[in-house]
Amino acid sequence: MRIAMISEHASPLAPLGSVDAGGQNQHVSELAGALAEDGHEVRVYTRRDSPDLPGEVPLRDGVMVEHVPAGPAAPLPKDELLPYMGIFGEWLLGRWRDGPWTPDVVHAHFWMSGLAALTARSRFPVPVVVTYHALGVVKRRHQGAADTSPRQRIGYERVLGRQADAVIAQCSDELDELVNLGVPRERIALIPSGVDADHFNPRGPVAPRTAAPRILCVGRLVERKGYADVIRALPGIPGAECVVVGGPPADELDADPVAAKLRTLAGATGVADRLTLVGGVRRQELPAWYRSADVLACPAWYEPFGLTPLEAMACGVPVVAYGLGGFTDTVVDGVTGHLVPPRDPHALATTLRRLLREPSRRMAYATAAVDRARSCYSWRRTAEQLTRLYARLAARTPQAVGA
Ligand code: UDP
Repeated sequence: MRIAMISEHASPLAPLGSVDAGGQNQHVSELAGALAEDGHEVRVYTRRDSPDLPGEVPLRDGVMVEHVPAGPAAPLPKDELLPYMGIFGEWLLGRWRDGPWTPDVVHAHFWMSGLAALTARSRFPVPVVVTYHALGVVKRRHQGAADTSPRQRIGYERVLGRQADAVIAQCSDELDELVNLGVPRERIALIPSGVDADHFNPRGPVAPRTAAPRILCVGRLVERKGYADVIRALPGIPGAECVVVGGPPADELDADPVAAKLRTLAGATGVADRLTLVGGVRRQELPAWYRSADVLACPAWYEPFGLTPLEAMACGVPVVAYGLGGFTDTVVDGVTGHLVPPRDPHALATTLRRLLREPSRRMAYATAAVDRARSCYSWRRTAEQLTRLYARLAARTPQAVGA
């Protein structure tokens, strides 16, 4: 099949860890790769955010990234991209109507990509699948006034969910949210993301560490990832260190507002000497960081899926996460790690302290974690489930098949 993936702000070519580049970029990159491995032709459409970007860049065999001219050719926060989604969709329409390559199915990632897909579909019949990656209604609930999303977001997400041919829920919690949003249940498919267990595995180089028990956090350096809660928990975990991987490169950390807040908090809590902010690292170096940890902490306020626990698990690292969002599907409490009550640094401290004192339990969790990540969460499996869905939808759209 010919599969168009739209990922307006999250390019699979972008370095990860910065404010708007994380799980979605990684998801799109891995999924496109797994689909191509199965023999499909994939084109990923992402916004051109630099004048130096060529129109097309091959990502790997069978995957081409196309840079779409919509809005200024400069980086823009994703929350400022909505005004350009009409142009994005029109550009896609022109490309597919007049160009040599036409998709059998369009898979939009994030709500704004979904809007661009609907614009194109209005005059180019093709089934549209949407993965939200994050829902405005959840973000608003947790961030309140700090949520900088366009005010139309929740309304558009609702319309999109009703108009898309299929909506992917990445975890059972998201499925419930989608039903509450009004997306017809029969159009929702629960298909989790995967992890590349060849790349993320327990054997290989280990990042430098001391004898101090290491609690690792990995992700974009944004407040909602909840790293502050680990810092608040640290006084209750004597001797342990907290290492945060993510954000801008190390030499730009000093200018980062979230980094500054975390450092101030660590100072006020008396744990400054036990906090290390590493900055963003490339995917190639990440397994070594996971392997260096005794435990991965995932204290996010909310998490639509969360790739980092899976990556840690595949590297043989137990996970202690808040019991919410995707964590409740990926982490099996008492088997691969622990789920603790959300936003509760005290519970986090108690659970981490106990686990760090029990190497045999950590070892048992590590073994179960590797097994679970490998057997339940491969990208191949994600790609197969999606391909079946795409084929079913494409068979219902006569013009799109063999167009
Ligand atoms: N990541 C990375 N380098 C970093 C920090 C994070 O490559 O310095 C990657 C991480 O490996 C994961 C992704 O960014 O694949 C974060 O995904 P997740 O789903 O955990 O969070 P999101 O960004 O979607 O909120």
